[in-house]
Amino acid sequence: MADPKPLLVLENFIAGKFVPCSSYIDSYNPATGDVYCRVPDSGKEEVEAAVRAAKAAFPIWSSKSPLERSQILNKLADLIEHDLEAFAQAESKDQGKTITFARAVDIPRAVYNFRFFASSILHHTTECTEMATVGCVHYTSRAPVGVAGLISPWNLPLYLLTWKIAPAIACGNTVVAKPSEMTSVTAWMMCKLLEKAGVPHGVVNVVFGTGAKAGEALVCHPDVPLISFTGSTLTAQRITERSAPHCKRLSLELGGKNPAIVFDDADLSQCIPTTLRSSFANQGEICLCTSRIFVQRGIYSEFLKRFVAEAKKWKVGNPSDPTVDVGALISKEHLEKVRSYVKKAQAEGARVLCGEGVDSLTLPTGNQKGYFMLPTVITEVKDESCCMQEEIFGPVTCVVAFDTEEEVIERANSVKYGLAATVWSSNVGRVHRVARRLQSGLVWTNCWLIRDLNLPFGGMKASGIGREGAKDSYEFFTEVKTITIKH
Ligand code: NAD
Repeated sequence: MADPKPLLVLENFIAGKFVPCSSYIDSYNPATGDVYCRVPDSGKEEVEAAVRAAKAAFPIWSSKSPLERSQILNKLADLIEHDLEAFAQAESKDQGKTITFARAVDIPRAVYNFRFFASSILHHTTECTEMATVGCVHYTSRAPVGVAGLISPWNLPLYLLTWKIAPAIACGNTVVAKPSEMTSVTAWMMCKLLEKAGVPHGVVNVVFGTGAKAGEALVCHPDVPLISFTGSTLTAQRITERSAPHCKRLSLELGGKNPAIVFDDADLSQCIPTTLRSSFANQGEICLCTSRIFVQRGIYSEFLKRFVAEAKKWKVGNPSDPTVDVGALISKEHLEKVRSYVKKAQAEGARVLCGEGVDSLTLPTGNQKGYFMLPTVITEVKDESCCMQEEIFGPVTCVVAFDTEEEVIERANSVKYGLAATVWSSNVGRVHRVARRLQSGLVWTNCWLIRDLNLPFGGMKASGIGREGAKDSYEFFTEVKTITIKH
C-alpha cells in the first residue's frame, strides 16, 4: 500500500518567525472527510509570546508615516495576488468552498482589503472647531491604540482575517490574529509573504488554535486593549464577559437571520437568480445569506415554482471541479446541525420542496465521506419555527407568503438578529420606505452582496456591536484625543 500523503503541519508566526507548538489539532478536508493538516493548539504561552512581540514592534510601526505603511500594504496585496491560484486552491481544500468561489471572491477580496486600506489610510482628516469668543481652537488627533487582537471565523477565512489585519496595521497598530482552528492554512501562507512585503517583525503575529484556549488567552490578555471579532453571537457573549474586567474596546460582527422581501412588482428575472445566490452561495455559509424569503401573495406560487426548479439545478460535489456550485460544509458536526433543522421543520409540519431528504445526492467516488448537502427549500413554515428564527448557516432557505408592506416589515423584524436584508420591488418609494424601517445593518434593494468598503458594515440587535469600513475601522483602530489651543 502506498504511504499516505504527509500531513501539512502549520506553525505559529511570532516576531517574524515560524515557531512550532507543543501540541496540535487535526484539521479536516471537508470534501473528503480526511485529516490533511495539523494546526498548532496554542494557549496562554504562545499568546503571551505573540503579544510580547507585537508590543515590541509597536513603537517603530506606529511611528511610520501612513504613506510608508500604505506602500507595505500594497506590496503585500501584490504578493497575495501573485499567488492567487495557490491561495484559492488552499482555501477551497481547507474550507470546502468551491474553487470558483475562492478564485472569484475570497482571495481577490483579501487582496482588495489590503489595497483598500492602503489607500483609505491616506485620506482621513480630523475635526476642528473654533470658539472665537473665548479665543480657542479645538481639534482632534488620532493615534493607533496598541496591540489589536483579531479573531475570525471559518466561512471566509482569509477574506475576513485580512478585513481586520489591513485596517489595524494601516492605522499603525500591531496585531495578534487568531484564525479559526478549522481554516488556518491561508493565514499561515500569508505569513510567509510578510517579510518580503516589508512588514517588520512583530507587526503581524498569528497564533493558531481553538477559541477556548488561544482565543480566550487573547481576549483576557491585559496588554491587548481592543478585540475585533467575527463569529457567532454565542461566542461574542463569552468574549464580552471575559474582556469586561479589562474594559476592552470590542467590535463584534455576528450572525444573521436575513430576510429577502419580494414584492409583486419585483423583476423576477433578476430576483430569482440573485436570491438563489443569496441563499446558497458558499453553501449558505455567509453571515449575509438569505434564509427567510417573504414573497407577496400574488406572485408566491410562480416564485416558488421557479425558485425550486432553479435550486434543483445547483450542482453539488467536489469543490475543485469548476462546474460545481455547492461544495462541502465545514465539518461533520455542522452538517448534522444543518440537517437537524430540516428534520425539525418537517416534524413541525413544514414542507421540504427540494434538497435534504427529498432528492438524492450522488457524489464522486473520492467525496463519499465529505460533508455535502443539497440546496434545500422549505415552505409552509411558521414564523415562530426555529428554522425561521435561528441562524442555520447552511444551504437551507424558507419561503413564505405575505400580503401587505406593513405586515412584512413586522415579520421581517421579528427575529433577534439584524444583519442584512434584501428588498425586491420596482417601486422606488417603497424600497426607500421599507429599507428605512427594517432592523438591519445592511439593506440591499434589487441586488445582493454589492459592497462599497467605504461605508459601514455590521449588524444591529444580536448581529453585532460596532461597524467596520473605511471611516468606522479607522475610528475603531485609533484612539481619539481632543486638543484645545487658546490663543
Ligand atoms: P465561532 O464564534 O464559533 O468562532 C469564531 C472565532 O472565534 C473562531 O476563531 C473561534 O476559534 C473563536 N472563538 C471561539 N470561542 C472563543 C472564545 N471563547 N474566546 C475567543 N475566541 C473564541 O463562529 P464560527 O462558527 O467560526 O463562524 C460562524 C459564525 O460567524 C456565524 O454565526 C456567522 O454568521 C458569523 N459570521 C459573521 C460575520 C459578520 O460579518 N457579521 C461574517 C462571517 C461569519
